[in-house]
Order: sequence, then C-alpha cells, then structure tokens
Amino acid sequence: MAAYEYETHEYDVVVVGAGGAGLRATLGMAEQGLRTACVTKVFPTRSHTVAAQGGIAASLSNMGPDHWQWHMYDTVKGSDWLGDTDAMEYLAREAPKAVYELEHYGVPFSRTEEGKIYQRPFGGHTTEFGEGPPVQRTCAAADRTGHAILHTLYGQSLKNNAEFYIEYFAIDLIMSEDGQCQGVVCWKLDDGTMHVFNAKMVVLATGGYGRAYFSATSAHTCTGDGGGMVARAGLPLQDMEFVQFHPTGIYGSGCLITEGARGEGGYLTNSEGERFMERYAPHYKDLAPRDYVSRCMTMEIREGRGVGKNKDHIHLNLSHLPAEALAERLPGISESAKIFAGVDVTKEPIPVLPTVHYNMGGIPTNYWGEVLNPTADNPTAVVPGLMAVGEAGCASVHGANRLGSNSLIDLVVFGRAAAIRAGKVVDPEAPNPVLNKASVDKAFDRFDALRNANGSTPTAELRLEMQKTMQEDAAVFRTAETLAQGVEKMTAIAAKLNDLKVTDRSLVWNSDLMETLELTNLMPNALATIVGAEARKESRGAHAHEDFPERDDENWRVHTVARVEGNSVELSYRPVIVDPLTPEEQGGISLEKIAPKARTF
Ligand SMILES: Cc1cc2nc3c(=O)[nH]c(=O)nc-3n(C[C@H](O)[C@H](O)[C@H](O)COP(=O)(O)OP(=O)(O)OC[C@H]3O[C@@H](n4cnc5c(N)ncnc54)[C@H](O)[C@@H]3O)c2cc1C
Repeated sequence: MAAYEYETHEYDVVVVGAGGAGLRATLGMAEQGLRTACVTKVFPTRSHTVAAQGGIAASLSNMGPDHWQWHMYDTVKGSDWLGDTDAMEYLAREAPKAVYELEHYGVPFSRTEEGKIYQRPFGGHTTEFGEGPPVQRTCAAADRTGHAILHTLYGQSLKNNAEFYIEYFAIDLIMSEDGQCQGVVCWKLDDGTMHVFNAKMVVLATGGYGRAYFSATSAHTCTGDGGGMVARAGLPLQDMEFVQFHPTGIYGSGCLITEGARGEGGYLTNSEGERFMERYAPHYKDLAPRDYVSRCMTMEIREGRGVGKNKDHIHLNLSHLPAEALAERLPGISESAKIFAGVDVTKEPIPVLPTVHYNMGGIPTNYWGEVLNPTADNPTAVVPGLMAVGEAGCASVHGANRLGSNSLIDLVVFGRAAAIRAGKVVDPEAPNPVLNKASVDKAFDRFDALRNANGSTPTAELRLEMQKTMQEDAAVFRTAETLAQGVEKMTAIAAKLNDLKVTDRSLVWNSDLMETLELTNLMPNALATIVGAEARKESRGAHAHEDFPERDDENWRVHTVARVEGNSVELSYRPVIVDPLTPEEQGGISLEKIAPKARTF
C-alpha cells in the first residue's frame, strides 16, 4: 500500500470545479450558510466557461414576444425527443429568474436602447412552438458572455465566504461500503501535498471531455475528470454517444466562431458561392440547429463543393455586416479570425469546419442535480452524497442535441437547483461521515501506481491514438463499419493504460503525471461514447448513423446507461421521462404539443 501523508478538511459541501456550474453551485451553497469548499485544477476564471461567447438563453421577451413554454418546446425538439421532460421544463421555466439573478449579481450584459438586456437570435430558438419566426432569446455580453458570468460569480462566491482550493487536482471519490459519497482525494499541484476532503455532499462540476477528440473547441483542461471518477466508483455514464460538432470551428486550429455570428446575420457558402443552407432548411436557413448544419456542411464537402485547395472546408461570411456591428457585437471573434485564420472579417470569409464542441452525455442526474444509479426496479435511484452539474452532468436537458446558448443557462439553473436541494438534504448540525479508509487507500494506490508507471507507452502517444480514433470513427456521420472498427480499436487502446510510461516521478508541478491522470479520465468517457454509438441502431440528434438514417422512437427513445470497467463497457437503458412538471390546466405545456414528430427546419 502506498503511504502518503495527507491533510484532512471537513466541509458540509465540496464542489469540484469552478466553471459556471461549479461557481453557481458554490455561491448558492455558501449563501445558505453551508460550509462550502470549491476545489479546482485551474484558477476559477480560467475554466472553459470563460471562452463561451454567444450567450445565455432565457425567454425575457426584451426584443419581441417570447414565453418559457416556447423555449421548452424548442429544447424538447432540439433534443430530438431524448431529453427528460421534467428537467427541460425546469430549465426553460427557471431561466429568466436565473438570468435576472446574474444581472443583479453584476454581470455586465449588453443593453438595448431602453437599457434592457440585449438578446440575439440563435439556432433552433423559435416562436409559436416552432411555427413562428426565429426569436431573439440569447442574452449576451458582447461575444464574451462566459467571461462576464465567470468573473461575476467568482467575486460573489468570495463575498459569501466560500473557500477556494485552487490548483488542487481531484483524483478520486471516497465512497462508503454501502455506496454513499463521502468526499474526494486531491493532489495540490504546486507543492505536491495530498488532501482529503470529507463532505456531506460532493458536487461534480468538472466540465466536458472534448479532448477525447483530436479537434475540439474546448480547452485542453476539458478531460472529463468527473466522468472518470464516477466510472471508477462503479457508477454509470449516460447518453455518451451524443457528441455535438459545432458548425463553425476555424479550419485548422478548431478555435470557435460563435453561432452568434450567424445570429447577427452571417451565412455559410460553398465553393460555388451558394448559400446552401437555404436549400436544406428553407425556413431557418443558417440558424437551423447545430447537428443539422454540421451534417449539411459535411454533405457539401463530400459532394465536392468544399472550399480551399483541398475542397475540405466551408466559408462563413460576415463582410456584408456593418463594421460597427462587428466591432460592437462580435469583437472577440473578429480577433480570433485574424489570429487563427489570418482573415479580416470585414473583407473576407472565415474558413470553417464542424468541430467537436459539447458533450450532451455525462453523469446521469435528476433535475435537482442528484446523481442517479439506475437499476431495473428503480431507474431514478439517487446516489446519496453526490451531485453533478454543468457539462459533466446529464439531467438530461439536451438529449441528443443541445441548442446554442442552452448550456450557459443549464449551468446556472442547475447550479442553483443543486444548492436549493442541498439546503434541504444537508444538515449543517450533523457530524461529517466517518471516512471509509479502504476507499481513501485505493485512491492513493492508483495515484502511486501511475506516478511510478514504467511501461512502454508515453502518455502523449496513447492520448493521440485515442484522439485520432475518436475523430475518425465517432464523427459527424457514422456507419456500422466505422463504429465496429472504432470499438475494436478503442478497446485495444484503453488496454494500453496498463502499459503507460511516466518519466517524471516528482510531486511538484508534475504535468506528466497530471496529464496521465487526465488520460485515465478521458479514456472511460471515450470508450462509453463509441460503444454506446455502436449499439444505437438509429439516427437521432448528433448521432447520425448512415445505416439507420431514421429516428426509431419505438425502440430507441431511451437513455443509454454505460458502466465502464477497465476496457469493457456494459450497456443498459432507462426510459426517457416524458411527463412535464406542470399540468396543462396550470399553465404547463400539453403532452400533445411535445409529442415526437419529424424534426424539420
Ligand atoms: C469555445 C466555447 C464557446 C462556448 N460558447 C457557449 C455559449 O455562447 N453559450 C452556451 O450556452 N454555451 C457555450 N459553450 C458551452 C459551455 O460554455 C460549456 O458547456 C460550459 O461552460 C461548461 O461549464 P462547466 O461549469 O460545466 O465546466 P468548465 O467551465 O469546463 O469548468 C470545469 C471546472 O472543473 C475543474 N476541474 C475539472 N477536473 C478537475 C479535477 N480533476 N480536479 C479539480 N478540478 C477539476 C476545472 O478546474 C474547472 O474549474 C461554449 C463552449 C466552448 C468550448
């Protein structure tokens, strides 16, 4: 057994992650007087949320009529009928409240002439239950909305005496023999000391796992650490096969150009200069949802109408927009286009390509953020002491495809919901749990084994193999053949985790070891993704299966539940929650309105 000395910290709540979700949860917990610690591997305001550009959806009706019921309908349709209806209602209904709270906390939103919060159109957001024109629902602080939110929430959390443990890397959950979460084991990156957090509630807010792919818009820190910890604790991941490709990553670097660019009037063209989205989506054109636009772009390229020397990408045009509008509404992306594509957006189109952007799947939760461990008898059984929020979680509001600007609102609505729930289930007077020593030892043993790993495969090499395989075999379009091949390759790649070579054995700023821990987290996420995709014999949302091009509600309107152990994945399924929270008589949406139908634009 590895002998590491450690310091023990006791709290009511420990939040792992300081992105939008983690900070909103931390703030809500601290406001209620719960003793709250927030542990984060990067400085809070460097979390990936800082890069969110376009905005945050809420039916404020500042720019024209809107209702939460319309927002809910769009979310249901956007999810391709895989989202849980109770959670989708909660999201749309609570969204305006959550945005006004942000405003009052101090988020510097862009303003209309009358001083109201500015809202822009975004893909898939409509009026009249999809029958009317697009709606301006996405609240924005120029094209730096995530930046504004993160800085404000961090300030407010400090003001409410939340305690931050910055550049602490969470290694594993501490679980009791009977399946209750009791805390988390952490490594302090800058001085090599080890820390055990004992808590009545652990909240995982660790973000997505975009870096399982070769080309992603997400930060290099988005390595699915929460999903990795959960899988090692014997708990499942849900709907991992649904990976969103954003239509407009800059060709080459993958750096994001926000959908807000099309919201402000930008459009896509092929090698013939044709605005091809008008052909595929006559109604919503360039503002059709992301899964759909990404597929159309891929089809244009396949049919030989891509742009550039190799005809392998597409153009995004903004030069027809007034220069002042670009400077005021989209200053950040004008700069990104200059730096990463060498393009002046007032004169030339930006070269773009669908790029991995968001993980719809994650740790299954109910709409209070409580983690689920579904069994055949009880598909919504809760894991005591454990919550998950933000991109790490799967509530599930995005189902098979997320609408743009619905993630930032998911972070704050469910970060807030988790705090409300914790206020009810965590008793500040109760003693902290007695830690399961075996579980603590197991975490240190795993850490020590990786620290001393002396096989023949360097971490960076294995990571690249994984990323290339996922990029090739779990792409925008999938076939039975590519998926079967992908499962075989990924199973072999995951087995090589036992043959890793770590060269640096120190404990202080050991990036080799940290990246190795991250790789052990990326791997179960990636494996669950490809195995889940191979098994799902239909097309739905972001999962476009060429051998099964239709959605099959009779057999496949179910959540995939994946349990990963080593390099094998066991799949089961749980039913989608179809009933909304509010009955129609009380102002809710009717079941008939949200019944599955063909998804056209
Ligand atoms: C470029 C880009 C632009 C986007 N634009 C928009 C937009 O305009 N609107 C929208 O709705 N959505 C947008 N999205 C999506 C949205 O921003 C993300 O889904 C969201 O920010 C994720 O937030 P989070 O709080 O879940 O995680 P993150 O912001 O990724 O934060 C994760 C946190 O977890 C911590 N962490 C992770 N692992 C560990 C560990 N092992 N130990 C300790 N700490 C750990 C990190 O330090 C970090 O603090 C965008 C995404 C990208 C990549």
